[in-house]
Amino acid sequence: MKTILQRLCALALIASAAPLAAQAPKSASKSVIAVPAAISAIKESDLKRDLYLLGGDSMHGREAGTIDEMRASMWIADQFRAIGVAPKGEDGSYFQWWNMRRTRISTISSSVTLDGKALTLWTEISPTSNLGSDVTAQTLFVGDGHDTTVDVRGKIAVVTMLPPTAALRSTTNSYEYRYARASITAQGNALTRRGAAGVIIVADSVAEIAYDGVWKIQERGAYDVIGGAPRNAVTANPPPAPRTTGAPVLFVHRSALNMFRDNGHNVEVHLHLESFESPSVNIIGVVRGTDPKLRDEYVLFSSHQDHDGVRYAINGDSTWSGADDNGSTSVALLAIARAFVKQPGKRSALFVFHGAEERGLLGSRYHAQHPVVPLQSIVAVLNGDMIGRNNPDSAALLGSQPPHRNSSDLVQMAMEASGATGKFIIDSLWDRPTHPEGWYFRSDHVPYARLNVPALFFSTNLHPDYHTPRDKPEAINYPKLTHMTKWMYMTGWIAANAAKRPGIDPGFKLER
Ligand SMILES: [Zn+2]
Repeated sequence: MKTILQRLCALALIASAAPLAAQAPKSASKSVIAVPAAISAIKESDLKRDLYLLGGDSMHGREAGTIDEMRASMWIADQFRAIGVAPKGEDGSYFQWWNMRRTRISTISSSVTLDGKALTLWTEISPTSNLGSDVTAQTLFVGDGHDTTVDVRGKIAVVTMLPPTAALRSTTNSYEYRYARASITAQGNALTRRGAAGVIIVADSVAEIAYDGVWKIQERGAYDVIGGAPRNAVTANPPPAPRTTGAPVLFVHRSALNMFRDNGHNVEVHLHLESFESPSVNIIGVVRGTDPKLRDEYVLFSSHQDHDGVRYAINGDSTWSGADDNGSTSVALLAIARAFVKQPGKRSALFVFHGAEERGLLGSRYHAQHPVVPLQSIVAVLNGDMIGRNNPDSAALLGSQPPHRNSSDLVQMAMEASGATGKFIIDSLWDRPTHPEGWYFRSDHVPYARLNVPALFFSTNLHPDYHTPRDKPEAINYPKLTHMTKWMYMTGWIAANAAKRPGIDPGFKLER
C-alpha cells in the first residue's frame, strides 16, 4: 500500500505538470480594477501585534463553548469598535448567539469495576468512543490478538497493543496520539467483530506517551449546532443515524498489564451519555458600501476565532494557541476591515468570525442557516483558514477547480487579485477531490457553498505544528501573512466593485 507521502509525491508530479493558472477560466473581457490606495492600511506591524495577542497563550487556546472563546470574541468586537466597523449582529450588537449541543460520557454516572473494585475513569481506564454501554463479563487475555481461533465471544478481551498497519495521517496531534488511535480502532474493531462483549487494550511504549491525550480528547465528547445547516450533503438516502451504544473498547496504561494477564476477572462497565447545551457566538460587523443600489449586496470575509483550548502537554506545553489556525485569518480580517473603513467599496463588506469551527463548522452552519442579511444578497464568501505558514511564495486557493469550484467568475477575480498583490504560485494539489486530506471540506466556506453562494477558501495548508501546542505566533511568516491578507482584500475589493456580481457555475455539485 502506498504511503501518504508517496501519494503526495505522485500528486505533486501531476500538479507541477498542470499549474492552476493554465486551467483558470479565460477572461473574456478582463476587468482591470486598480489597487486602491487604502491597501496601505494593511500593515505587517498590525498583523503581528494582533496575532501575538489573539494567538498568544494568554487567550488559552480559545476553546469553543468556554470562557476562553468568549474572551477572544469580546476582544474581536472591541477591535471592530476601535476600527469603526458597524455592528451587524443581534439587537444592534456585534454578536450572533447560538447554542452547541455537546454529548459526552458522563464521568459522574459512569463506572468501570474490576473484581468489584472501582477503577478511576479516564486516568486509570479510558473509554475510546462516545458510546454508552452496560456490560458485565469475565476477562480473557488474548496476547496481541493475532490468533483469531481464540473464542472471545461474550468475554472482555484483554489485548496488548500492536503497531498500526494502516498509514498514519501526516498531520494533526502528535505521532504517538495518531499511533494509539489507529491501533485502538483496528484492534477494537477486530475483537468486537469476533464477538467480544468488550475490549481492554493495553498501551505499548509508544501509545503510553499519548495516554493522556487519548482520554483528554475523548472526554470532550461530540458537538453539534442547534438549528444549523447539516454538515454533509443532503441526499435522497441519508446514512443511518450514528449509534449511541455499543461494546465498550477501553484503553489502559502499559503498567496495567499485570492486573489483566490472568483470565477470569469480573469486569463491570457502565458508560452513560450526557447531553447539554452551551453557548457559542459569531462576531459580525459591516462596512457599508457607497453605491445606493449595490450597497445592499455583501462580500463576506470569513474566519473562525476558536481553537483547541488547553489540552494535553507536548514538550511541556499544554496551550494549543492556534496562531496559524485561525488567529492568522482573524487578524487578517481586522486589517482588511481597516482598509474598507478607509475606503469603502460599492458593495458592502460583511465580516463574520465564526465560533466553534473546530467542533464541526458549527458557527458557519448556523450563520448560513440564519444569515444576518438575505443569503441571496451575499455575492461572495472569502474564507481563510491558516494563512501564515509554509513556503513563502506559494499558497492554495480551494474552490478553484471542479468539483469544488462553484463560481468561475469569483476564481477569476481571485486570480486577478493575486496578480495585483502577492503573486503567489498557486498550489493546485490541495483542492483536488483525490487529495488525502480532503482539505476543501474542512473550513467555514463549505456551508455557504452548499447553499450556492460563490465561495473560496484561502490557505497556506497544513504543517507539522497543526493542532499541536507548537502553533504559536513566533512560527508565523509575517511578510507572507501580509501578502495573503492583501490577496484576500483585493479579491474582495474586485467583487465589491464589479459591475456584475460573480455567478454560480451551472451543474456545481460537490463530490460529498
Ligand atoms: Zn481552522
